[in-house]
Amino acid sequence: MNIWGKVIRAVVVSVGVTLAVMAAMSRLPGLDIPGPYWVMGVALPLLLSGPISWSLARQAARIAALNAELHEAYARMKALAETDQLTGLANRATFLAAAEQQHAQQPGRVIVIDLDHFKAINDTHGHAMGDQVLQGIAHTLRRLVRPDDLVGRIGGEEFALFLPGADDSSAATRADTIRAGIEQVCIPDGNGTPIRITASIGISGPHSTALPEALQAADLAMYRAKRAGRNRVRAAA
Ligand code: GH3
Ligand code: MG
Ligand code: MG
Repeated sequence: MNIWGKVIRAVVVSVGVTLAVMAAMSRLPGLDIPGPYWVMGVALPLLLSGPISWSLARQAARIAALNAELHEAYARMKALAETDQLTGLANRATFLAAAEQQHAQQPGRVIVIDLDHFKAINDTHGHAMGDQVLQGIAHTLRRLVRPDDLVGRIGGEEFALFLPGADDSSAATRADTIRAGIEQVCIPDGNGTPIRITASIGISGPHSTALPEALQAADLAMYRAKRAGRNRVRAAA
């Protein structure tokens, strides 16, 4: 109902109630209400309830609009706080919280992905191109994850996945698909020269009962992949 509808309803109700009360009182013995009082019985509630209800209805509409704005702003702030602005992936805190919850419900494997020699890309092509490469990697990860997987950017050039329900063998297959997918990423620099990148990937093992342990195990495995020559996958020992 719009403001005018609410005002008309309030005026009709207040005039109606006043007249009904007056009519009931006029039936009492010896209480004959003279004509001018009936006119006042209509005029007074009309004059009072009209402006008051109009002002109240306007205030209510303003509060409802402010409430909607507040909800929208909260949703925007929440999305900003949970998302990595460069890649649009979950940020570290959001990823860890979601993965911890998932891992408790349905254990799986954590995959840590660290881009190889990424600093050299910044040094050679500039930071802006480095940012584009990170966006390209995020795009590839989004393309390769399954609906139940969690993916996040957990550091500058580090990403992580949580694969619920995965075992050693399925996680290894998935990690290698991701490694190969990253190898295929090709971002042209300002001169059209393709920038290519690889990643070292670590997978947590079956013994990590809590997420922090799983993340640490995957991280250690990732460093083993680095030491073994990069662009490869290693699982927790
Ligand atoms: P490694 O193979 O040993 O991992 O070598 P690396 O060069 O990838 O690792 P290192 O830790 O030496 O360098 C990481 C670089 O990532 C350094 C930092 O400037 C860059 N970096 C971190 N965050 C961002 C970002 O948001 N944008 C860009 N363009 N670069 C970033
Ligand atoms: Mg790193
Ligand atoms: Mg690196």
